[in-house]
Amino acid sequence: MVNEINPKKSYKDDQLKIIITQEEIEAKVLELGRRISEEYAGKELILVGVLRGSTYFIVDLSRKMHIPFALDFISISHYNDTSGPAGVVRITKDLELSITDKHVLIVEDIVDTGLSLGYLIRNLKTRNPASLKVCTMVNVEARRIVGVPVEYKGFDLPNIYVVGYGLDYKERYRNLQFIAEFDRS
Ligand code: 5GP
Repeated sequence: MVNEINPKKSYKDDQLKIIITQEEIEAKVLELGRRISEEYAGKELILVGVLRGSTYFIVDLSRKMHIPFALDFISISHYNDTSGPAGVVRITKDLELSITDKHVLIVEDIVDTGLSLGYLIRNLKTRNPASLKVCTMVNVEARRIVGVPVEYKGFDLPNIYVVGYGLDYKERYRNLQFIAEFDRS
């Protein structure tokens, strides 16, 4: 039996407004999985998931792909963490695999200001991959500070704060099967 979370039953939270449904996400993931499989056919591909937000997306996406690939994860601290000085991004868990001469696809949950991704791209480029591209579930151009190339996009969203499908608010809501606008007020 499929274990479905009924959003209406489980989350009466009026802070949540569904923006992208589970069906829309599934259709988009299928489309992206097919496109990536076609474009990387015959190439040595490493999918790099950025912890923790991209986990749901990368698992679903990878299962829609029909080419061989390796999977690895990296974790970075965000510029808005309270644990360190503002503006600093650093790797807190590095890749296990060497990406030198491999085709690398970074899989992100959301590209917002682009600061984290910009740092990640600069860092991974020094390891001389054969190619380095980005796939994100959500893209928010309106909040961009740093220009970053995004090859594969799920959904373009306006300047709103979203949760679900891996995205959290204070570590909650990651397991929602839809993406919702979240009112933080
Ligand atoms: P950046 O601003 O560097 O592009 O994104 C940094 C991180 O901030 C993202 O990976 C994500 O974890 C978090 N973030 C940015 N915008 C949102 C949002 O609308 N909702 C949630 N839940 N997290 C976000």
